Amino acid sequence: MSQKAPTLFLGHGSPMNAIEDTPSSRGWRELAGAFARPRAIVCVSAHWITEGVRVTAMERPRTIHDFGGFPPELFAVQYPAPGDPVLAADIVARLSAYGAEPDLRWGLDHGTWSVLAHMYPQADVPVLQVSLDARRTPDEHYAIGQALASLRYENVLIVGSGDIVHNLRAFFHRGASNNGEAEKAFDDDIVSAIESDDHRAVLDYRNYPHAAHAAPDWDHFFPLFYTLAARDEGERAHVFNRHFFPGISMTCIAFGAHP
Ligand code: ZN
Repeated sequence: MSQKAPTLFLGHGSPMNAIEDTPSSRGWRELAGAFARPRAIVCVSAHWITEGVRVTAMERPRTIHDFGGFPPELFAVQYPAPGDPVLAADIVARLSAYGAEPDLRWGLDHGTWSVLAHMYPQADVPVLQVSLDARRTPDEHYAIGQALASLRYENVLIVGSGDIVHNLRAFFHRGASNNGEAEKAFDDDIVSAIESDDHRAVLDYRNYPHAAHAAPDWDHFFPLFYTLAARDEGERAHVFNRHFFPGISMTCIAFGAHP
């Protein structure tokens, strides 16, 4: 019987977290120390959006620096974790009902490596990404997550990487009109729904009063659906890294791991 890996949602925030020692990056490290090393990691990142479901299937995924306006030391970061083409083929098969196809062009974007650089700094655990299919509804993303869930029993760590609060306009125009209260209230609402296992409310997050301000970008919110879909009956949410910046929450959720 193989070890059962957790399912995580990791708020990744600014790419600078990759190379900075912050309360958030320390939270990721601490979490990684709280469960057994996984056999592989499957990450659904906010930063890989496709038409159709894609699964990275290369032996050596490249490190993608998918951002601009950051210092050279961030562009110099490499995260040379191996891929796992056999596992990729398995995932493509599991997701055949969703038309999944292997991908040999993407790699690891910063939604993945900025966090894993702290959790597994040796980059010695194989990492795959599954894309966000832009054509899908929240319920369909959740169903895809359910189809991945049993990988946990093969000690494959499932990660959704985004931000529950993600409003770059608010991030870049921090100031008088935004004291962060609406964003915090939205984050609280989502955490409450998760803690009471009300996944329907999370899928319907646009109904919350501050959703249009706090989560205008679906791409950073939807990775959460994969995390929740892989939760087992009876597992309690461990909520951590509740750090707030204008337009960003770093909130993280873990099922099956608790420091
Ligand atoms: Zn991001």
